[in-house]
Amino acid sequence: MTEKPTRADASALDRTDPLAHLREAFELPENVLYLDGNSLGPLPRAAREALRHAVEIEWGTDLIKSWTKHGWMTLPQQIGGRIARLIGAAAHEVVAADSTSINLFKLATAALKLRSDRRVVLTETGNFPTDLYVLQGIAAFSGGRAELRAVPSDTIEQALDDKVALLVLTQTHYKSGAVHDMQRLTRLAHDRGALVLWDLSHSAGVLDVDLRGCNADLAIGCGYKYLNGGPGAPAFLFVAERHQAALQSPLAGWMGHAAPFEFGDDYAPAPGIDRFLCGTPPVLSMQGLGASLSLFDGITPRLLQDKARALGQIFLDRVEQAGDGSLSLLSPRDPSVRGGHVSFAHEDGYAIVQALIARGVIGDFRAPDALRFGFGPTFLRYVDAWDAAEALLDVVATRSYDDARFRARAAVT
Ligand SMILES: *Cc1c(COP(=O)(O)O)cnc(C)c1O
Repeated sequence: MTEKPTRADASALDRTDPLAHLREAFELPENVLYLDGNSLGPLPRAAREALRHAVEIEWGTDLIKSWTKHGWMTLPQQIGGRIARLIGAAAHEVVAADSTSINLFKLATAALKLRSDRRVVLTETGNFPTDLYVLQGIAAFSGGRAELRAVPSDTIEQALDDKVALLVLTQTHYKSGAVHDMQRLTRLAHDRGALVLWDLSHSAGVLDVDLRGCNADLAIGCGYKYLNGGPGAPAFLFVAERHQAALQSPLAGWMGHAAPFEFGDDYAPAPGIDRFLCGTPPVLSMQGLGASLSLFDGITPRLLQDKARALGQIFLDRVEQAGDGSLSLLSPRDPSVRGGHVSFAHEDGYAIVQALIARGVIGDFRAPDALRFGFGPTFLRYVDAWDAAEALLDVVATRSYDDARFRARAAVT
């Protein structure tokens, strides 16, 4: 590559991109550069078709027979098995169920019970809000049994003492995109006798996650971000095989029962991962997510990771090289410790994001000052990363964001 990269360099990368064909699998609106697939993945054509089928044929015609005829009953396991491959887990260690928040509640509560000789849950300040809130809720309802300790990211290792029952971390930070060293932190926590729960919301479908290779205990993550499962798609949870028999779900619903259709009065947990199911699966959402996951068939997580990081690097380098210095990088510059998104800070961040959206370049804003751009490797081209950088540079240089209509805050940012 030449000293100063150009749009032609990006275009050349598109011509040799092994994932280029995936873009065709999505319905993307025209004249939109979508840099928010890390928050809501775009619509796969297969998902539209699966949802239509689920409504018209499965629900509309086959009605209740569909629980067996269309495999509704086993959707959590079928879909969990497909996600497993993307996060380095075995199929019988993952189910799709509930939301990320609820899965965190289930697994963190179960882990605390398993480690009842210890009371501290350790996490980092600035973690994704729902992670902090759910853990605060668990501590508040524990009758003094559990205590939440939230420390800055760079002091986690010191804070991992022999009182810690569970370390809860988000692998890829939702704002900065910084990636924790899962291997190292898991080993360290184990050395000190703690379990670890990893939130993979901004990792699954974009990073080469290796839960088994890291000897991970527990994990959770989102279905609607890089997995493109659709708005409010079911989340997933992972429990390492070695812990499954010992862990008990605090939400002991009938779908986690060993024999739900015997309708017995007493709860008996299913063997294996199924015990972490609670109620009836949300079939329509599940069918959307299942179809979306078919896009990943035959694709290695490593390819996704390499492309997402390369896209982010083109964007980041261009913004830094051609900008006026008013945007400061919040993400690691080193791609090997960065997830799929790149964030910059700017005091007028909100208005800049709005001005970009008005010209069809969709990123998002995270208070107080972060402009966040996600580089979904399944549907973006290298030239998109380049063009997005040019758009951002133009909005900042011309101050086109300096307009009242870009400053009024909406409810969802
Ligand atoms: C997106 C995200 C969630 C979302 O949780 P929901 O229960 O789906 O609202 C949770 N944790 C992290 C780290 C996230 O990025």
